[in-house]
Amino acid sequence: MAKYIFVTGGVTSSLGKGIIAASLAKLLQARGLKVTIQKFDPYINVDPGTLNPYEHGECYVTDDGAETDLDLGHYERFLSTPTSQANNVTTGRIYQTVINKEREGAYLGKTVQVVPHITDEIKSRMLLLGEKGFDIVITELGGTVGDIESLPFIEAVRQLQWQLPDEDCIVLHLTLIPYLKAAKELKTKPTQHSVKMLSQEGVHPDVIVCRTEEALTPELRRKIALFCNVKTEAVIEAADAPTIYEVPLAMMREKLDLICLKKLNITDYQEPDLTKWKEFLDKLKYPKSKVNIGLIGKYIELQDAYKSILEAFVHAGAMNECKVNVVNVHSEFITEENVAEKLGDLDGLLVAPGFGHRGVEGKIAAVKYAREHGLPFFGICLGMQMAVIEFARNVLNLKNAHSTEMNPDTNEAVIDLMEDQKKVTAKGGTMRLGAYPCTIKPGTLAHRIYETENISERHRHRWEFNNKYLSQIEAAGMIASGRNPENGLVEIIELANHPFFVGVQYHPELKSTVEHPQPIFVNFIKAAKEFSASYSTTNLTKVPQVPSL
Ligand code: GLN
Repeated sequence: MAKYIFVTGGVTSSLGKGIIAASLAKLLQARGLKVTIQKFDPYINVDPGTLNPYEHGECYVTDDGAETDLDLGHYERFLSTPTSQANNVTTGRIYQTVINKEREGAYLGKTVQVVPHITDEIKSRMLLLGEKGFDIVITELGGTVGDIESLPFIEAVRQLQWQLPDEDCIVLHLTLIPYLKAAKELKTKPTQHSVKMLSQEGVHPDVIVCRTEEALTPELRRKIALFCNVKTEAVIEAADAPTIYEVPLAMMREKLDLICLKKLNITDYQEPDLTKWKEFLDKLKYPKSKVNIGLIGKYIELQDAYKSILEAFVHAGAMNECKVNVVNVHSEFITEENVAEKLGDLDGLLVAPGFGHRGVEGKIAAVKYAREHGLPFFGICLGMQMAVIEFARNVLNLKNAHSTEMNPDTNEAVIDLMEDQKKVTAKGGTMRLGAYPCTIKPGTLAHRIYETENISERHRHRWEFNNKYLSQIEAAGMIASGRNPENGLVEIIELANHPFFVGVQYHPELKSTVEHPQPIFVNFIKAAKEFSASYSTTNLTKVPQVPSL
């Protein structure tokens, strides 16, 4: 039988519930327990796949093709275990299920209501992963206590607290203790109010985790305990950390895992084994070199839009004992004229995924610069498609080369819609999504990177490399080094005559974890380090050491 930990948030959003949940899960996992985390989001979209990155950050894709909240990325990066559709549920999905059941006649004769029908559906989803062999299921509730839209979720937790044995279900409330500079004081009142609000909704927290800029004094901990009706040992300090990867260790010092284990009456656990985690942190904290990597994208104002890419750089940087300084370059403002000035100081270039025509010409100009200057290049999804278009235009001289996504009328559609995508009109969940196999050509850079011929990576796109152009492109020096074994779709391209030029149709960043950094990222940073070492630091613009194509 699984036990359940619910994580609610109070006072404000963005306190890092996902990181606290993932850190607690990491500690419990390190103690030998089988743990999973799920997220319930209170918005009406059936999944975040239809949300603009400006609204909700990156859309994280699981192996089974679910488009999910970016917190699932944190769960995977911390735990190194895959999540699935069951790990992310929205209000939209709950209502869709209940309404579909109503149409099928599942509730014939009854009035369908929020309580019990919606709350029953929420509860059954909350308990679902508990039937899959986990010892502990951590459930993060999106939103802030007091929001109208989170009410049914809190009500479901209230009911579960009564339904499940006392020691099988606890609630952890994450809150903010603001520091008032003028008064030089930490203030507990907002926390008192948010716990009160949660209690009014019928749920009493067992543990209170306090986000704070200053250390909590014993006196303050006692005060919070007294006013919020928890034991002092259940008041946990979560001070601001230099990196999210320090948080599990900070939570271990605060004994968050032990208090949860005690309340859940779990006695069979080991001393936590965090050897690999600590090795990673040491490398992260004491890098021996530094590289500047340009991230070329159109959502760069919002860092959450590229969350998994940025985290994959952190993992790959640590592996290389190298600090990765990410330089954001807005693709819309890159032109043939200013590209050398904008990219001249970089040691590597990553052209990001994306949708639509905005900024694509800037991306193409950036790819051209990287190709011609031997600058390590890594293109992901749209970034790979741009590399193919640039090559077709400037090496094969197909001046109209384009993707039909941006120019439906092009007569040189080197990137085109797959046949089965041409009929698709609905937008939600209809892209090529989730894990697909890829076979790698021996002797290629991709093969040296992955050190195997068979891989599986996650996808989220509609357009593809058009195989009509494959032989022409390969003959000119761009190799399809990875292809789908079933349908021949091109998954990886690389340049024969370049130190590191790789484009992938899939999203490798989604599978990078602390304990298993993604190999393309690791090798890209290694190539950037070599590039950086190969030019004279006195030159303002980096001089290529290899002949350009
Ligand atoms: N817009 C492109 C497509 O749908 C690329 C998508 C992406 O970068 N994830 O194929």
